[in-house]
Amino acid sequence: MNKKDIKDFTLEELKARLEKWGEPSYRATQVFDWLYKKGATSFEAFTDLPKSLRQKLEEYFSPRSLVLMEQVTSRDGTEKFLFELSDGHFIETVLIPAGKRKTLCLSTQVGCKFACAFCASGMAGFKRNLLPSEIIGQILFLRDELSVHLTNFVFMGMGEPLDNYENVIKAVRIMNDPKGLGIAARRITISTSGVSSALERLKNVKLQVNVSLSLHALRDELRSKLMPINKKYPLAGLLQACQDYIEKTGRKVTLEYILLREINDSAEDARRLAAVAKRLRAKVNLIPSSQICGLAYEPSPKARAELFLKWLEEKGVGATLRRSKGADIQAACGQLAGRLREKTSLKK
Ligand code: SAH
Repeated sequence: MNKKDIKDFTLEELKARLEKWGEPSYRATQVFDWLYKKGATSFEAFTDLPKSLRQKLEEYFSPRSLVLMEQVTSRDGTEKFLFELSDGHFIETVLIPAGKRKTLCLSTQVGCKFACAFCASGMAGFKRNLLPSEIIGQILFLRDELSVHLTNFVFMGMGEPLDNYENVIKAVRIMNDPKGLGIAARRITISTSGVSSALERLKNVKLQVNVSLSLHALRDELRSKLMPINKKYPLAGLLQACQDYIEKTGRKVTLEYILLREINDSAEDARRLAAVAKRLRAKVNLIPSSQICGLAYEPSPKARAELFLKWLEEKGVGATLRRSKGADIQAACGQLAGRLREKTSLKK
């Protein structure tokens, strides 16, 4: 039988489940403590629980871990991890160190449905959503197996987090719960290609996470070409959903903008982007486009990227020009595909 992973439960859910078994609710807190504070990986280790309860947990649940298949390190220190899931699918997770800050870039789906024209993650199509336990598992692996002191968490790996809304929100709750991983919400960023309906749901959830919008174009025609999701949720409605989110939550939204040579890097593009950023009082992150094998888009030349930044700054917009990280190991934005490298498949 395929047992459910115990890390798929939020604290509330686990309390409810254990109460059904006639257990007091503090038992759930004890389980959380073992899983998330002490990093235990077997029920046997939960020594302050009665043996009968440990056996029952064992019978109904598993405390599965991800299996690391490959780990590569970039010249710039970025590391990429390829994990195998229990059904044989693969996902990638990226660790980006920058001084004291250690950011973990989490995957939320195997593949992606959204097929953005510049991104590798959707090239092999969509396989399935990740479970909360598989999202949390990426963090636990780095923290417990590799003893990495993680400081920031971005949902910018494979997949569209808001297309796996329930599981991502559950994972965020476990991350954010002081009795769980205890990660402050301001250290967590959900990045979206623009699923307006989910943004509308998110604004009513009391989680103070950061939201990044992958905007990339300010004309519907171009955005729909680059990001087919735009056909379903065109710019006007999407920007309104962002504005509502900002007003309702009091949080800021960051706008992500990939610079694609002669596609979206003109003075007119900068002017439109600046207008939207000012309307939303949003910061802009300019991202150099990563080269994806088989895709036609080229990054804007450095001089153009700097000029584009200047155009935004002249309009009073807070913007940063990011440096691409991990490109030599296919770990930069949009390069995660999660396929098993030939080398590793020989090992199996
Ligand atoms: N689906 C979510 C999160 C995953 S992608 C989203 O779209 O936001 C994380 C970021 O990488 C997004 O801003 C995405 O647009 C960007 N990205 C994708 N392909 C890229 C590429 N080739 N070069 C640079 N950034 C890319």
